[in-house]
Amino acid sequence: MKLYLAGWKSVSLIDVKGKATFTVWLCGCNLRCPFCHNWRLADRHEPPCHWVGVERVLWELGHAARLVDYLHVTGGEPLIQADALRELFRGSPVPCSLNSNLTMPGRLRILVGLIEHAATDLKVPWRVMTGGASERLWRNWLESLEILAREKITVELRIPVPRNIHGYLEALKKALSEASRRLRNTTWYIVVNPLLGPPHTDPRDREWCRRHCSPGRELVNEVAGLAKRYAKTYVNAIEPYRASGRPVEAASAL
Ligand code: SF4
Repeated sequence: MKLYLAGWKSVSLIDVKGKATFTVWLCGCNLRCPFCHNWRLADRHEPPCHWVGVERVLWELGHAARLVDYLHVTGGEPLIQADALRELFRGSPVPCSLNSNLTMPGRLRILVGLIEHAATDLKVPWRVMTGGASERLWRNWLESLEILAREKITVELRIPVPRNIHGYLEALKKALSEASRRLRNTTWYIVVNPLLGPPHTDPRDREWCRRHCSPGRELVNEVAGLAKRYAKTYVNAIEPYRASGRPVEAASAL
């Protein structure tokens, strides 16, 4: 079987909090998030997207296996290629981690016995942050959290933080409450990711990002304060930036 992918990195220290991973980027996505900085993968641009046999990826993974904690698959949206992904996970010599938008619970079900860790964004407000995805997909996301919790899969819940969104904190509080109810029977933690715009990233919609990326330090701290009421929380700042006139501290645990 083949995977439609953009590439892999043999040892990455930034894709799963506190872990070394062999990371694979798959192409294609069913959402159109305006802040997406992997939009070329999501939109299947060639290059970088191309077909590679599962066996070839496993061969590369074999050489890095003793150096990594996880095989981590991200994208794009990996569940679009659930069948080939199952073959990849089945052949992996290390535990598997999936980064997904979790809007396809039916496809997630065929992989759950093969994964130990999952990462997903808490996109709030849902329609704004997904480029107009339906409420049905939001319900699918919640259903997927239930599936992960039932299978005792560790969940890394990522909060991408935008600015200038009316009612953001209230909406986030409600969404966090809904997510935490689904996750209470498994291990989970939160990573707060301030949305960075150019020149740090190359977002799909630069005009959207001009208005909504680079939140100020106060908002990021408010989000982190809210998040830590629910689970252990980390704050990521990929690089110090100055949206509020002051740099955000480098990654820290609250
Ligand atoms: S951010 Fe993720 S879910 Fe959204 S378009 Fe990009 S790859 Fe897809």
